[in-house]
Amino acid sequence: MKRICKECGEEKEIEEFVKDKTCKYGYAWDCKECRSLHERKYRQDNKEEIAIRRKCRYQKNKEYVKRYGEKYRINNKAEINKRQRTYNRKARKDLKRVYVKDQIKKMGVENKDITPQMIELKRELMLFHRLLKEVSNGINGGGIQGTTANT
Ligand SMILES: [Zn+2]
Repeated sequence: MKRICKECGEEKEIEEFVKDKTCKYGYAWDCKECRSLHERKYRQDNKEEIAIRRKCRYQKNKEYVKRYGEKYRINNKAEINKRQRTYNRKARKDLKRVYVKDQIKKMGVENKDITPQMIELKRELMLFHRLLKEVSNGINGGGIQGTTANT
């Protein structure tokens, strides 16, 4: 099936036309090429207006997100705090990168200076310290003393 574009007057395959249910035969009267040319010209002619409209929309959306976020935070303060605490505890237990990074930052290293190798190294160091602590707890705590108390 072919159709003549009313814009450029060329006969083209129907696939070359944009689907448009409001038009006869279900296709627009101008071909895709003319349509995109049109749109480009429209954008060029209305650059400022489009920019303003976009900015407006962005601003509105930003305000909405902000307002909604604030309301959400106020209404769910306890829940958020709880979630944050659980997350922090888990991050600490698993020595997650964020947690290790925080520890490095606490040492006075700036965020931009922290490398992945640094995090990895610190992580291993922390693991090692934990292991040491576990071992020394085993010696001083329950383990050996427990057995001596029994005898
Ligand atoms: Zn055309």
